[in-house]
Amino acid sequence: MSRVALVTGGTRGIGAAISVALKNAGYRVAANYAGNDEKANAFHDATGIAVFKWDVSDYAACGEGIAKIESEIGPVEVLVNNAGITRDAMFHKMTPQQWHEVINTNLTGLFNMTHQVWTGMRDRSFGRIVNISSINGQKGQMGQANYSAAKAGDLGFTKALAQEGAAKNITVNAICPGYIGTEMVLAVPEKVLNERIIPQIPVGRLGEPEEIARCVTFLASDDAGFITGSTLTANGGQFFV
Ligand code: NDP
Repeated sequence: MSRVALVTGGTRGIGAAISVALKNAGYRVAANYAGNDEKANAFHDATGIAVFKWDVSDYAACGEGIAKIESEIGPVEVLVNNAGITRDAMFHKMTPQQWHEVINTNLTGLFNMTHQVWTGMRDRSFGRIVNISSINGQKGQMGQANYSAAKAGDLGFTKALAQEGAAKNITVNAICPGYIGTEMVLAVPEKVLNERIIPQIPVGRLGEPEEIARCVTFLASDDAGFITGSTLTANGGQFFV
């Protein structure tokens, strides 16, 4: 029987590309999303991938969602923590709500999800966790103190858990995408994209969601069993760690 992969925020943007790539690689895929039913249902109709709605910032909801997937599809062997949001503001204008929403989704969401598949992965002596961080967690980004802090936190989480999971054949890795052409980035005004963002990218273009999805498929595979605690940077040469 093929492995079960769960992708948070797996119904649009980078997550949708990841869900499809994993399905094409032979996994039984479950895609989680937060609330955009229209997008999620259209994604399900187009791909046949099962979709499940809950908020990753809600620990109890994560437990219920994972239990439903495990009873309907099977034990989660690959978890891709991809769901993420932005609530950008310069720090002097950032509200506590903007701070907490981003930390709760982009950082605490990883705890909420991973904690509830971890014991099963340990018991079965196999697991693959792939966390989608960001270039802005590596270098920081003005207007994104909340997002940069959460995404940097994701990298620390990845490295700590990699050490805990290694003896049980659980790998934990992170991917740091640069600017990828999804709704999150295409919401930036076109003038800013063309005059300020794309000129910073040496390859001269935005990345494609499928380019990140191929990184995930590799890290989830048996071929990547010796890679754990790593950060895979995919940003068109914009920033080197
Ligand atoms: P999108 O905004 O296109 O899609 C976000 C997805 O996450 C949607 O499926 C959304 O569900 C889901 N989601 C958001 N909040 C929650 C939540 N609380 N619980 C469950 N699901 C949630 O994002 P991208 O595809 O652009 O980004 C995906 C990941 O990649 C994010 O973690 C982002 O930070 C990271 N990233 C993106 C970059 C980019 O250039 N696009 C660059 C670097 C990192 P719904 O559809 O229901 O709203």
